[in-house]
Amino acid sequence: MLRPIVRYGSHDLTAAAQPVAEVTDEVRAILDDMVDTMYAAPGIGLAAPQIGVPLRMCVIDLSVGKRGGELLTLVNPEFVERSGMQLEEEGCLSLPGFTATVARPARAVVRALDRSGTERIIEGTGLLARALQHELDHLDGTLFVDRLRGIKREVIVRKVRKLQRQGKW
Ligand SMILES: [Zn+2]
Repeated sequence: MLRPIVRYGSHDLTAAAQPVAEVTDEVRAILDDMVDTMYAAPGIGLAAPQIGVPLRMCVIDLSVGKRGGELLTLVNPEFVERSGMQLEEEGCLSLPGFTATVARPARAVVRALDRSGTERIIEGTGLLARALQHELDHLDGTLFVDRLRGIKREVIVRKVRKLQRQGKW
C-alpha cells in the first residue's frame, strides 16, 4: 500500500524515532508499505518517519526494484563502523526538487535486523554508504539540509518557505 511521504517542515521528520521492540507481522506490513512507497516515488531509500511512523527502520534499494536481491530492510539499524569521506550530490523524497552536495562517509558498516528479525551486517561503500548514512540520519530527525552549512542551507530553506506560502508544498 502506498503511503503519503511527509515533507520537510513536518515535526515527523525532526523527532528521534523509537526502537522496534519486535519484528511482528504489523511491523512487516509497514515495511512492505515503505518498499511500495519507495519504488513508486521512485527513490533508493525511505525511512519510517518519512511516512509518519516514528520507528527505527528504513528500506534501501539502489536499483529501485529493477534488480532482484538488492532490497535491504533495516530494523533498529546502528553503525558499527564508518570511515573515509565522499562528496556527492544528494536528494531526499521529503525534499522533492532539491539537491545538494553533502559530505558522507566513503564506507559504512551497519548492524540491523532484517524483516524476519534476524541480525544482519551490511557493508556499503560509495552510494550504499551514502544511502545508509542518509536513512539512519532520518531516524535521528536529521535531514541532508541539516548537514549543510550557512548559505547552502539557507537557500533551500527559503525556497521551501516560499513554496509553503504559495500552498505548493
Ligand atoms: Zn531522505
